[in-house]
Amino acid sequence: MKKNDKNKFAQVKCEKCKNEQVIFTKATTVVKCLVCNEVLAEPTGGKVMLKAKVLEYLG
Ligand SMILES: [Zn+2]
Repeated sequence: MKKNDKNKFAQVKCEKCKNEQVIFTKATTVVKCLVCNEVLAEPTGGKVMLKAKVLEYLG
């Protein structure tokens, strides 16, 4: 079992506008930056593929 499998949320930083936001790592839809609309994560069927820089994994 991989370490990150139990983490449901991740705090990420948008590479484009530097906005920080918390995203759900098991989202089933594309997660976009709330500020600039950049794609931060894409669903892969299980966990999302994170496109943005992860600052921290949260519970
Ligand atoms: Zn952004």
